[in-house]
Amino acid sequence: MKKYRPFMKGVIKVKDGGKVALIGGRCSRCGKRFFPRRVYCPACGAEKVNEFEIGGTGIVYTYTVCHVAPPDAEVPYAIGYVDFDGVRVFGKFVNWQERLDIGKEVELIPWKEGVTEEGDELISYRFEVK
Ligand SMILES: [Zn+2]
Repeated sequence: MKKYRPFMKGVIKVKDGGKVALIGGRCSRCGKRFFPRRVYCPACGAEKVNEFEIGGTGIVYTYTVCHVAPPDAEVPYAIGYVDFDGVRVFGKFVNWQERLDIGKEVELIPWKEGVTEEGDELISYRFEVK
């Protein structure tokens, strides 16, 4: 049976069937939500921060298309910020050509970054333009 592991522990959560969620923080004092999770609240400094999941669909806040990249990377590619219910997340887009724009809806999807020595898939995330 194929197993999935998060590419970044404490940042990405791999769910049943390889679906993905991001791990954000919610301040127990002021309620501020942020990503990635931190050990204290960036708004009020409280140290009690609870975990919550970010996923589903978001709205493109801004983006840029890169035409220069390190060796082995395909160009062009698109990166940017997406708002998920008020929490801004940085990432890379897929299926973006001629479709990506500010205000567009995207979906947080799992993305295979590689395979471990045991054959488990390492899962990261991308924003898929709808
Ligand atoms: Zn706070």
